[in-house]
Amino acid sequence: MTDAVEKNPEVESQHFDVLIVGAGISGVGGAYHLTRQRPDTTFVVLESQADFGGTWRTHTYPGIRSDSDLYTFGYRFKPWTGAPIATADEILTYMGEVIDDNDLARHIRYQHQISHASWSSEDHLWTLEATRDDTADPVRYTCSFLWMCQGYYRHSEGYTPDWPGMDRFDGPIVHPQNWPAELDYEAKKVVVIGSGATAATLIPAMADKCEHITMLQRSPTYFVPRNNANELADTLREIKIEEEVVHDIVRRKILHDHQIVAQLSLDHPELVKNELFKGIREILGDDYDMDTHFKPRYRPWQQRLALVPDGDLFHGIASGKASVVTEQIDSFTEEGILLESGDTLEADIIVTATGFNLNVLGDIAFEIDGEALDFSSKVTWRGTMFTGIPNMIWVFGYFRASWTLRAELIADLVVRVLDAMDARGATTVVPELGPADAEMRLSSWVDPDNFNPGYLARGMHLLPRQGDKQPWLHTQDYWTEKDELPVADLDDGSLHYS
Ligand SMILES: Cc1cc2nc3c(=O)[nH]c(=O)nc-3n(C[C@H](O)[C@H](O)[C@H](O)COP(=O)(O)OP(=O)(O)OC[C@H]3O[C@@H](n4cnc5c(N)ncnc54)[C@H](O)[C@@H]3O)c2cc1C
Repeated sequence: MTDAVEKNPEVESQHFDVLIVGAGISGVGGAYHLTRQRPDTTFVVLESQADFGGTWRTHTYPGIRSDSDLYTFGYRFKPWTGAPIATADEILTYMGEVIDDNDLARHIRYQHQISHASWSSEDHLWTLEATRDDTADPVRYTCSFLWMCQGYYRHSEGYTPDWPGMDRFDGPIVHPQNWPAELDYEAKKVVVIGSGATAATLIPAMADKCEHITMLQRSPTYFVPRNNANELADTLREIKIEEEVVHDIVRRKILHDHQIVAQLSLDHPELVKNELFKGIREILGDDYDMDTHFKPRYRPWQQRLALVPDGDLFHGIASGKASVVTEQIDSFTEEGILLESGDTLEADIIVTATGFNLNVLGDIAFEIDGEALDFSSKVTWRGTMFTGIPNMIWVFGYFRASWTLRAELIADLVVRVLDAMDARGATTVVPELGPADAEMRLSSWVDPDNFNPGYLARGMHLLPRQGDKQPWLHTQDYWTEKDELPVADLDDGSLHYS
């Protein structure tokens, strides 16, 4: 229990039917669906930040933008009317409209850092302990159902590997998750370590102001340079089709195209690779060493293909303002980075775009009937609920398709589960393995051969496991889940109601 609460055992508690943790795109979407689909359900959203947005509020590095299109990253119920790749500000404006248009603000309580959640089988309730950032007051909430929309990584700080000599470097070492507003990079030599979407965003955004900016990567990533426009959407708008219809059609078309690329990546990876490389080569020219810098070792689509709007990263490289070095780091020195080849990359500023720290259940200490929860010992029910954890659903979105697609499928599932509980007069629902599952082979939360982001590899041992058949799989496959999850059998014996 938190110190603050221990010192104040008399803290009054407030009760809601449902408590949503987090006011990012998942939590705000959850609030919308709950008001629409279960208007009589009382609920509150608790958020540790001072405002909504999650990822899109806490990241403030230059150029911060989405790497997937907003027709699918946006909600299914609110048309996206801008360019497909959006800035964080545009996403926040969009989310703000959802909150205003649907009167959701009254449900959200900001600056509430939840530290502890305990389930009581006797009371059929979760009790959550939080501290208010503004007043430092402890607060307590109880709820019948807990909807975890806390994302998957720690917002307070990113992941920076421990390289030898880091303390010797003379300039600032900055992680994009904690971007100093006052960082002056005008006419400076900048090295960005990393090859993911963050590096691909930062480099073109900073290149014009820097003396030179270098992307230092251990190994290449797949990128898709593409105009930041959607031709179909533009045509539909030109002929005055309503935005709701444009949104629906363009979403379907993008998802259809993704499905084709996903299947082709499995069946004909070389074909997909060549198509992806062609777009980059067109900008960088035939003499550029594509093999070293832009031909990944993994199969396309093992991670979401990051869209590079208008090919800006590659135009930066072609102009000479930016460059790519694909090498291993030996150590940091006073002047920059010593590479294993013996070369030194000089730098005034080093940016470590090296990823996230996985955050398990919002860094909240969970207890079930007084026992500390070991999340890694649990088995997932369709990547949403967990054996032995009553009345709780976690939103973990897609890696390859847009996150929000899964967040909304799970919102519908929450509604179905609550309806099923009501229909049975049940106060508790919990997934439990049955006798037929005793010999089931268990594997990691996601298949590392299929998805390989570093933060997952580093944190997989902390996450629950999946089985080898439904409903114990976490498939990460939008194209099967979109059909299966909405009709998933809630009465097949895997969910225990009481
Ligand atoms: C820079 C960046 C770009 C990305 N771009 C894309 C993209 O283009 N497409 C895509 O599909 N995905 C993208 N992602 C993945 C992205 O995180 C998700 O798509 C999505 O925004 C996650 O939304 P969320 O609401 O589930 O979680 P988050 O955005 O992480 O929000 C969770 C919220 O929960 C709050 N919270 C957590 N723990 C607690 C606690 N203990 N108490 C109270 N509040 C808590 C946090 O403060 C936060 O506001 C990107 C991620 C990053 C970092």
